[in-house]
Formats: sequence, structure tokens, C-alpha cells
Amino acid sequence: MRDEMFSLHGKTAIITGGARGIGKTVAEALGHAGADLVLFDLEQDSLEATAGELRERTGRRVLASVVNVTDHGAVRLAIDAAWEQFGPIQLLFNNAGIVLQKPAIESSPEEWRRVIDVNLNGAFNVAQLFGKKLIDNGVAGSIVNTGSMSGTIVNYPQLQASYNVSKAGVVHLTKSLAYEWAEHDIRVNCMSPGYIFTDLTSSVREDWRDQWAQLTPMKRLGRPEELASTVIYLLADSSSFTTGAELIVDGGFTIM
Ligand code: NDP
Repeated sequence: MRDEMFSLHGKTAIITGGARGIGKTVAEALGHAGADLVLFDLEQDSLEATAGELRERTGRRVLASVVNVTDHGAVRLAIDAAWEQFGPIQLLFNNAGIVLQKPAIESSPEEWRRVIDVNLNGAFNVAQLFGKKLIDNGVAGSIVNTGSMSGTIVNYPQLQASYNVSKAGVVHLTKSLAYEWAEHDIRVNCMSPGYIFTDLTSSVREDWRDQWAQLTPMKRLGRPEELASTVIYLLADSSSFTTGAELIVDGGFTIM
């Protein structure tokens, strides 16, 4: 296969949750693959710091945009502003997410709604407004949503029904949008990680992390950089006939 099948040169990518964790690492890889970068995240200082690092390491143009993915109006403004500055934006890594580890019976309605609001409604807001911009401008595009193996299995020992349900929703949102937007030349796929070592997972009990590693056939947690090539494959022309797919990257966890 020719190298350019995996190239993102001449393209721009929006990365939500791009200030740290998986979003930051994947953003850097997208930059090395040739894409200019637009980072969406909550906090100005960490966004600016990450944008500076990525400019230096990748040599690409990097825009930092403070936006909460749950705010539909703010997402619209941020996408419009990014198009104004960078021109057409063809790629989206729709990745911002949070987790709440709490038994369902103890979760308040507000806690339940918050997780669904960020992980599922937020993913919908960004995908919908990004897709609309592409369709209105007749531009082809590619979207990768970050799901989770939790959209397929129920994790233990930690209990996290709201998260599991939100990620199952992201997987089916992927398929639904893939069907609706195929005629517009917009592909929508999902990359679902298993246990990955980031801020999201480093704050939990150490004995849980040890159990997660033992439950994973490869006997370890993954690293964010081990997800990046999957995202590049799904965003680039290398996957030109792939849409509505979920690729689970989990060290074998969901085999069992
Ligand atoms: P991190 O917590 O390390 O990073 C998430 C980033 O998203 C943070 O910068 C956070 O900002 C930002 N963010 C949170 N809420 C919003 C919001 N409402 N609007 C905009 N940005 C927001 O998490 P990971 O990198 O580990 O996770 C990234 C994605 O991968 C998530 O969707 C997660 O569910 C998924 N995932 C992670 C796994 C893992 O093991 N780590 C496994 C499976 C899936 P701030 O720091 O200010 O809160």
C-alpha cells in the first residue's frame, strides 16, 4: 500500500479533549501524519500549553479553542471560528469524555445526566455541527468517535453504569451517523479503547489498576500512543471503504 494512504497532509483535524490524555497524544500523531490541528478543551492554560508543545514537536499550525462540548451554541461558534482561521476542516477526533465510578443505586439524577451529557450528548453536538458544516460546504470528511470497550462489556470491580451506557450510545451514534452521511461522503467510525493509562485511570485505586492488567490477556494497560495509529487509519484514505465500524483496541480484554 502506498504511504500516502496514511497521510493527512493538506487536511485539518479537530480534536476534542485535546489538552491531555488520549486526545493530546493522538493530536500529536495526527500532526506528524501531516494534519493541522484544532484542539477543543475546557481549560485555557492547559490548552495553550499543549498547543505550544504540539506546534514545536510537529511543526504544524495548532489552534487552541476553549469550548465545552455540552454547549451546542459554543461548539457551533468554535467550529465556525476554526473554519474561518484554517479553511475547510475535514477531520474530527471526537474524544472528550469523563467517567463516574459509582454503583447505579447510589448515583444521583444529576450525576447520571452529567456523564450522559458530556460523553453522549457532547459527542452528538460536535459530530452534528461538524457534519452540518461539511454538508453545507460540500466537503468530504471523516469522523472518529472515541467509544470504549465499556460500550460492549460491563467493567468490574468498579461500577460505572452511566459511563457504560454513554459509550454504548456513542457506538450506536457512530453507526447511525455513518448511515445518514454516507451519501455526503462523510465516514463515521469509532475507536474503542480498553484500559489505557491516562489521568482518567491514574486516579483510581491502585489495586483496581492491577486487577485490570491481570484481566487483560496482554497483562498490562495500554498507552495512549498505542491508539494513535488506529485513529490515523480510520481518519485517512487508508480506510476509504470503512464506515460505521468500531475498532476495539484493548489488549484482548473483550475476547473473553
Ligand atoms: P483524560 O481525563 O485524560 O482527558 C480528557 C480530556 O477531555 C481532558 O482534557 C478534559 O478536560 C476534557 N474534557 C472533559 N469534559 C469536557 C467537556 N465537557 N468539553 C470539552 N473537553 C472536556 O481522559 P482520557 O484521555 O483517558 O480519555 C479520553 C477519551 O477516551 C474519553 O472519551 C474516555 O471515555 C475514553 N476512554 C478512555 C479510556 C482509558 O482507559 N483512559 C478507556 C476507554 C475510553 P479537563 O481536564 O479540564 O477535565
